[in-house]
Amino acid sequence: MNGFGFRLSPSSAINLDKVDRSRFEELCSIEPDALRCMSCGSCSATCPAAQFSGMSIRKVLLNLQRGKEEEAFRLMSNCMLCGKCTMVCPRGINTRRIVLTISRIYEKEEKR
Ligand code: SF4
Ligand code: SF4
Repeated sequence: MNGFGFRLSPSSAINLDKVDRSRFEELCSIEPDALRCMSCGSCSATCPAAQFSGMSIRKVLLNLQRGKEEEAFRLMSNCMLCGKCTMVCPRGINTRRIVLTISRIYEKEEKR
């Protein structure tokens, strides 16, 4: 009977004052539209890469805001830059350009 019973999951609470949001802030300084995302998920619903890889601009932006950059980068690497998400975003965010800008931020840092 070892292991029987309930266990509390580790908390997923994030202290936003303590996480590194520098890449998200850099993104917003270049593409202020990133702040207008309301996490509606329309981009994920239309993304052809989503069902195979979990790619979602919504998740990329949320992960960057929470300082989870590895996960954001992993998701982004599945983007084919088809632009479908840009066509459906109700906030008119150029999501394709946001992916390109994030890639450039990472590239710039790799060269340092
Ligand atoms: S469709 Fe636009 S507003 Fe909705 S989650 Fe995607 S980026 Fe954000
Ligand atoms: S541009 Fe990228 S994130 Fe947007 S729908 Fe196409 S593959 Fe998905």
